[in-house]
Amino acid sequence: MGRDLNDKAPFFISSNTYPPPDLAALGPRRGFWLWLMIDIWQQVNFSRWEFRCRDGCGLDSIDIETLMLLQEVRDHFGQPVKINSAHRCPAHNASIGGKPQSQHLYARAADIVVLRVPAIQVQAWLSQRMARKWGLGCYAGFTHVDTRSGPPARWSG
Ligand SMILES: [Zn+2]
Ligand SMILES: [Zn+2]
Repeated sequence: MGRDLNDKAPFFISSNTYPPPDLAALGPRRGFWLWLMIDIWQQVNFSRWEFRCRDGCGLDSIDIETLMLLQEVRDHFGQPVKINSAHRCPAHNASIGGKPQSQHLYARAADIVVLRVPAIQVQAWLSQRMARKWGLGCYAGFTHVDTRSGPPARWSG
């Protein structure tokens, strides 16, 4: 079964897709969505604001799988995780030289710095944790992580 980039379930915490457009039509599942809306940000050390597009356009979605991975990083190292870049609109992505198919466009990526932990140590741990899936970009001062569909990607810059 092939999956392309946009194939992943649209399970975003986003002003665009979340809550779902027709909450009433969800019937019994409505309660789940309402619970998620209230509760998810209370269970993580991040706020939506940290995932905003840095050009101020208002995008601030984050894929739930990416968010949970970031929380794992936070819990593992016991240190704050600084989000340098997360969701990006195409214009901002282009302006900072992002790849045209960057996972940042789909709100599935974050460039992170774990305070007081060397990037190489963060990358070593993530490389184990993300074995054979997702995306990991290793840079000297920060780490790119994403939860892409399809084949895994590894690179250093
Ligand atoms: Zn933007
Ligand atoms: Zn990145």
